[in-house]
Amino acid sequence: EVMPGSGGHEEKIFVSVRLRPLNTKEILRNDVSDWECINDNTIINKNANLSASDRSMYPTAYTFDRVFRSDCSTRQVYEQAAKDVALSVVSGMNSSVFAYGQTSSGKTYTMTGITEYAIADIYEYIQKHTEREFVLKFSAMEIYNESVRDLLSSDCIPLRLLDDPERGTTVEKLTEELLRNWDHVIELLSVCEAQRQIGETSLNETSSRSHQIIRLTIESSSHGAFGKDNSSILSATVNFVDLAGSERASQSLSEGTRLKEGCHINRSLLTLGTVIRKLSKGRNGHIPYRDSKLTRILQMSLAGNARTSIICTLSPARIHVEQSRNTLLFASCAK
Ligand code: ADP
Ligand code: MG
Repeated sequence: EVMPGSGGHEEKIFVSVRLRPLNTKEILRNDVSDWECINDNTIINKNANLSASDRSMYPTAYTFDRVFRSDCSTRQVYEQAAKDVALSVVSGMNSSVFAYGQTSSGKTYTMTGITEYAIADIYEYIQKHTEREFVLKFSAMEIYNESVRDLLSSDCIPLRLLDDPERGTTVEKLTEELLRNWDHVIELLSVCEAQRQIGETSLNETSSRSHQIIRLTIESSSHGAFGKDNSSILSATVNFVDLAGSERASQSLSEGTRLKEGCHINRSLLTLGTVIRKLSKGRNGHIPYRDSKLTRILQMSLAGNARTSIICTLSPARIHVEQSRNTLLFASCAK
């Protein structure tokens, strides 16, 4: 049997775009959607009122590995843009699934569903493959202002990153829960959500400025090898990453060249953009993983044979057209 994702060659980053429906607030203020997915790969802006200068500056059609219309379900997005990448972890490949987009475009909505579907499928795979022994470990963290916090612990002590010659960058003292059953998964996911919300009330706009990583590590071996023959253990990690609002990246670009922490500049988001652009041009040459906490933590799941999917979420509203274009520009550079 061929295991999912065992291609063996360097993979391109899978880039997709998900358009959300207009929400009640937008409908009530008579906002309209100018975006339309005309087939499975192309999204266009059909606003006929664009100025001549706008028309010459921005493309009206954008092509990706996949585009999802506003009536697509998260299940469909998962099946077509995340499942293969996430499931490649059971064959020992590291992987990451990202949601990128401006605040309120649907990142959390999309990632929450995808994370649950993926973990359920990984569970099912393990239950079917009784010829091997599996161990699943769950951890979750938040990066806010280049400070890393454990989402499974109630104390807000910033965690340090350590460089391990074999495992790459690790997060010191990060809680790792050994998954017992499906109820345990649901319980841990709700602990993360609650922890994230506690952060939000104490600091303004945390969710738009912070990155959340839910991480599943899968170790497997033939029966009886755990603790005896460590060389036969296969270990891989899948990361589900709900990024800070992308408006944090575009604002900082107009801010000049120097990076200042604090205000609206987000070093991790900016560095991730650079890393992704470089990776999309081929995985050789210098890639600045070490320039931010997010890219250090994710390095092993972005470099080498790792598989990556980026889902770019888009608000359809006309008032968001500029941010939507920035998102599509980022998406175009990633593919
Ligand atoms: P973000 O995390 O990017 O800031 P959210 O995921 O919180 O955005 O989405 C903002 C609001 O829009 C939420 O109330 C969410 O339930 C809703 N929403 C987002 N995407 C969709 C969608 N595809 N279908 C229906 N509602 C959506
Ligand atoms: Mg969110």
